[in-house]
Amino acid sequence: MSRRAWVLAVLTAVVVTGATYSVKAFTFTGLRWPNGSVISLKIKMGAGSGRLIDGKTHWDQTVVASATQWNSTALKGVPIRLTTVRNASGSKKGNDGRNSIFFARTVFGRAFGANTLGVTAPWFFAGNVTSEADIVINSKKNFNSYRGARLIDTTGVGSTPAARGPVDIMRVLIHEIGHLLGLNHPDQVGQRQATIMKSSVSNTDRVLIDDINGMYRLYRVPICRVKAFNAPGARNGNLTNTDCIAPHRPGTKRGDLYSFTGTAGQVHTITMTRGTLADPFLVVLGPNGGKLSQNNNGGGGKNARVRFTAGTTGKYTIEATASANTDRGTYTLRRTVG
Ligand SMILES: [Zn+2]
Repeated sequence: MSRRAWVLAVLTAVVVTGATYSVKAFTFTGLRWPNGSVISLKIKMGAGSGRLIDGKTHWDQTVVASATQWNSTALKGVPIRLTTVRNASGSKKGNDGRNSIFFARTVFGRAFGANTLGVTAPWFFAGNVTSEADIVINSKKNFNSYRGARLIDTTGVGSTPAARGPVDIMRVLIHEIGHLLGLNHPDQVGQRQATIMKSSVSNTDRVLIDDINGMYRLYRVPICRVKAFNAPGARNGNLTNTDCIAPHRPGTKRGDLYSFTGTAGQVHTITMTRGTLADPFLVVLGPNGGKLSQNNNGGGGKNARVRFTAGTTGKYTIEATASANTDRGTYTLRRTVG
């Protein structure tokens, strides 16, 4: 079998502007790991980082946390998963049978682009089956580890290299692992949805629904279709086997997703009442895509209720799901404001 390098997928710090967009979703590198793959990431980040902004004390921890985020979301629903080996030994070479993650000044001897933060180099057999993928992080850039809005020298944005940082290494690693798994840059083919897979680093700091759907589609399991639920009121739903695996619950619970725009300061109450579904469970995601709140039986009996004050104006997502992996059936979702 022949092995060859595929085009290197990069994450840069350049701000993309002026594009026109259509609404689509996720794109792929064209490569896929075989079903059943346990992808072992050999972490070779080198010496400890010192204390990072988020409290981590070693670069290795940022790789483990990034892999964990993929495992606990998208990979829960597909037949591959990631494992990690900290302080791994061995060379920092490509095409050596190891999926290495490390800092370097070049990508296997090739220069990084001036604004490139990291590169994923997949290796594959004929048939576009990934055999190995290495992630090289540009050691000349200024990294740290933190959540939320990027810390950046805005005077550099759009003109000179903006990655004066510190750049959050975790969102770069989550992005590069997305490449390793087979996802590409939606914004480079005219898409504009929120995703960690944008070609430029942004305020997005985690795996989002579109990224999860990309993996679901790549492995041919049902994707999560997000229904708009903007006007307060009631919706009847039905959890079935054709719904997606709920992305933010452990196990194989199914989920229906609804989105609404919340205004900062508004108090929202969401209740999920059982029909034939035995035990509803609610998860609410905030505008950053992170879990904001969840509830099992706060709505009386087996019914779920979440009440929260919107901290920021933006798109909130409801994950209407169940307590048990095998629970299927009808429910009613009610949303009130104030
Ligand atoms: Zn990229």
